Amino acid sequence: MIQASWKASTGWATPELKPYGPLSLMPTASVLHYATECFEGLKVFRGYDGKLRVFRPDRNAARLRMSSERISLPVFEPSQIEKLIIALLSVDGTKWLPKERAGSFLYIRPTVIGTAPQLGVGAPKEALLYIIITYMPRLDAPPGGMRLHTSPEDMVRAWVGGFGYAKVGANYGPSLLATADARVRGFHQILWLYGQQGECTEAGASNFFVIWKRKDGKKEIITAPLDDKLILDGVTRRSCLELFRERLNGEYEITERKYTIDEVIEADAEGRILESFAAGTAYFICPISQIHHRGKNIDIPMGPEATPGEVTSKVKGWLGDIIYGREQHKWGVII
Ligand code: PMP
Repeated sequence: MIQASWKASTGWATPELKPYGPLSLMPTASVLHYATECFEGLKVFRGYDGKLRVFRPDRNAARLRMSSERISLPVFEPSQIEKLIIALLSVDGTKWLPKERAGSFLYIRPTVIGTAPQLGVGAPKEALLYIIITYMPRLDAPPGGMRLHTSPEDMVRAWVGGFGYAKVGANYGPSLLATADARVRGFHQILWLYGQQGECTEAGASNFFVIWKRKDGKKEIITAPLDDKLILDGVTRRSCLELFRERLNGEYEITERKYTIDEVIEADAEGRILESFAAGTAYFICPISQIHHRGKNIDIPMGPEATPGEVTSKVKGWLGDIIYGREQHKWGVII
């Protein structure tokens, strides 16, 4: 793992590369009481051309800086985080992803925590940044597609003026209850709705896309916008949008706007829904086959024999080609 400590009085210490192991914290450490924590998640892939690639680490580094600032932890130059990730991968990447394991990946988790032993509620004067690498099972696509349950009426994941746009631990712990409940009822993730109108925001810890025909007959790919700061600016979401605009423009309208669960229900009743998918680092591109809302099921079309629909398959293929080096692309940063 890589570790770098920070003190308000002296700034960042020189980062250290050391064996993975426990951290030593005082019971009064700020993170344990006031959730002064933020993190990132990205993957390194062993390509079919034998090369190791990290996917858009600049975006994760910039997002970590934003989250750190939001939760009163120290800031840093994002390019320094990228350098640390690459330094760690140059040791662990080759060791744990040997050339013969083409098509496999590891998960990278950069984290910043407030370590200052202080019970007084205030911005921590000491912090620790660390980066670890772990195996992660392949989570993409449960058989038959992902089934979503809309969030309970009395729960929101994020709110206007809150911090849903930051990748802080405080966004995740409180969401586990609804997810566990949905799992008991046979669903995989929560579709988080927001506000009186039930705006569709995110699916679990992934961004959410719907592909439908609008009332005017035009085909549209729609996802929630970033401007209310309700959702995470997902690297996968951003990459999908960029690829759609580059490769499907004209064929589909590509739209970032607020849209509600009632619009999805209406489109379903009128037979206008074409497909839907969740996009994120952990689940990659995951087709959605059903949404359950207040006692009713919305069945989402998929491809033949429960394969992903056309747009979902296309974007999954394009991104898969980039991360595994079948397409040389600037997003796949070679280690
Ligand atoms: N939304 C939330 C709440 C998340 O935690 C994640 C995972 N980081 C995403 C969306 C997807 O973001 P990304 O594509 O960067 O993994």
